Amino acid sequence: MKIFKNGTVVTGDGKTVLERGNVIEADGLIVDVNLHYDENLESYAEEVIDCTGKCVMPGMINHHQHGITFGPMFASGCVNYGEEFIMSHLDRSLLQGHTTLLNIDGFVTMDEVKATQKTHPIRIKAATTHSPTNYHAGELCDGKGFLPKHKEMTVENMLSEGAICIGEVGGGHTLGGGGQDYLYIPRAVKERKGKDIDYLQARAMKLSVLGRYIEESYYDRDRVAQALKDAKLDSFLTPEETKDIVYKTTLASVKVALDGYREAAILAKRYDVPLMIHNAPTSKYIVHEIAKMGLNTLICCHSNYLFTKDECVENGRYLKQFPGVILDAAVHDPWGAKALVASPENLFAFYENNLIDIISTDFAAGKSDSMLEAIQHAALEEKIVGLAKAVRQGTSRVGEVLPRLAPNLGLLKKSYFADIVVTEYPTLKNVERVYIGGKLAAKDGKVIR
Ligand SMILES: [Zn+2]
Repeated sequence: MKIFKNGTVVTGDGKTVLERGNVIEADGLIVDVNLHYDENLESYAEEVIDCTGKCVMPGMINHHQHGITFGPMFASGCVNYGEEFIMSHLDRSLLQGHTTLLNIDGFVTMDEVKATQKTHPIRIKAATTHSPTNYHAGELCDGKGFLPKHKEMTVENMLSEGAICIGEVGGGHTLGGGGQDYLYIPRAVKERKGKDIDYLQARAMKLSVLGRYIEESYYDRDRVAQALKDAKLDSFLTPEETKDIVYKTTLASVKVALDGYREAAILAKRYDVPLMIHNAPTSKYIVHEIAKMGLNTLICCHSNYLFTKDECVENGRYLKQFPGVILDAAVHDPWGAKALVASPENLFAFYENNLIDIISTDFAAGKSDSMLEAIQHAALEEKIVGLAKAVRQGTSRVGEVLPRLAPNLGLLKKSYFADIVVTEYPTLKNVERVYIGGKLAAKDGKVIR
């Protein structure tokens, strides 16, 4: 038995915050959450943790992470970053207070998930995108991480072997993001014109032809001519040639990726499992299309990402009207690395407009800030959401939306598993202890394996 006493206890139910509360654990389960207990109990406890001036919460359930198993990565099926990266990424996640992670690199197999789980105490669950069109989209973009076993796997088999949902469908790579800018468009220009161009010039070509929302009908000759001039490409490229190159290198593969959304949505309906889809400007319209299909659970991932602030609020409001739609807000890296997202303004706008159902970190090149950091800033500093509600969005609400992700987790409540974090208060991002199933898994910045 362990007793966590005199802490600010946030139970995860969205309502309850106990000042000077106690949490009692035995045999890996929560046995009581209270304001008073008989002090004689302490003589039976193996450990009494004084949580005065600290916060005690359920472990965060991070339902959106990449690069945490020994399988292929992303919707592009690229080779993973290697065991050393994966292990340190898992450590980092645990030390940030996440006790359950959903791997949404959808091409991994369950044996790869199990092999990774054997090496680390954090709870790792998996999602699947093993369907033909999604493979094809990955292959068109990268696919170098695919082995025969990945290609032979199906969504149906993954679900029966323990995958908890379908996802993440789509991604920056397969939807005409970086790969086209760095590789495919420059290569096509070199082949056709014998000229080298850089990624910014390639991006200018792409955006002038297809726009931020990747629309075939966006093409306008004068706009492309102007963009070629601005990017100093007009001496050797005409608008017609540019259109042809961009359609062949970008639109053709994006079309396959968009078909992958439709295929995944049909499978999610057939097997009645939640579907997680990449929601960003490049996938805006396909996300709208899927939202209208009436799935029981459609998680629109990182709905605050890459849109402008006004766009993401407007788009979030629009999506919310469809039954089954769940809006996820991603933390990314606005306080630490700032490499992907420079400011939390979109995240805060989501809090302020009450658009958030659940939160997650997303990958952010392996340097995402923690869910607890987002909760700390939003609830305790900016005060744009209540603490109880903010914690629920990263714990019990996630468990409700994805029922197979974290059964019996996400609440400090009698008979729930004792996944518990103890943090500084109010500096929630400073995690002091992490318990998984009642066992100490991390303390003072060190993972215990
Ligand atoms: Zn994504």
